[in-house]
Amino acid sequence: MSITQIIKSFTLWEFLKAHALTFRYMWKAKATFYYPFEKNPISPRFRGEHALRRYPNGEERCIACKLCEAICPALAITIEAEPRDDGSRRTTRYDIDMTKCIYCGLCQEACPVDAIVEGPNFEFSTETREELIYDKAKLLDNGDRWERAIAANLAADAPYR
Ligand code: SF4
Ligand code: SF4
Repeated sequence: MSITQIIKSFTLWEFLKAHALTFRYMWKAKATFYYPFEKNPISPRFRGEHALRRYPNGEERCIACKLCEAICPALAITIEAEPRDDGSRRTTRYDIDMTKCIYCGLCQEACPVDAIVEGPNFEFSTETREELIYDKAKLLDNGDRWERAIAANLAADAPYR
């Protein structure tokens, strides 16, 4: 058998093997998801996009204690605060630079009133850096939008804390 014949028979063999493999897997359950139309379930502890939560009456949970700002290892959080007329202390500014954030979750761990949380949203890519500088309005809006899922995740995780 010449070298050319050997190469041809080897190529034919590899061709048949590849198609046999294709046919074998064609009938098996899919190992992949058709993202973004299908999504994997995520853990209640998933640390995604940040949100500031409110109480059911609409009042902000955050009491401006600044523990989250102090503990953030990336120095991503900036808070300014002042007392309201009723004497309660609330933030006048709450920014998170999401380009600095390392998603460690320490801000959420430090918060005594479950105000700042990392929610389940992982689809928040942007086209510009500026869009990743979140202000208080953006964070509260995230909280309003994701509150149901956030509350369910916190409740699911509570027995293990
Ligand atoms: S997740 Fe970590 S790095 Fe990001 S804002 Fe919170 S404390 Fe800072
Ligand atoms: S989010 Fe929580 S830890 Fe941060 S300032 Fe508000 S109450 Fe304090």
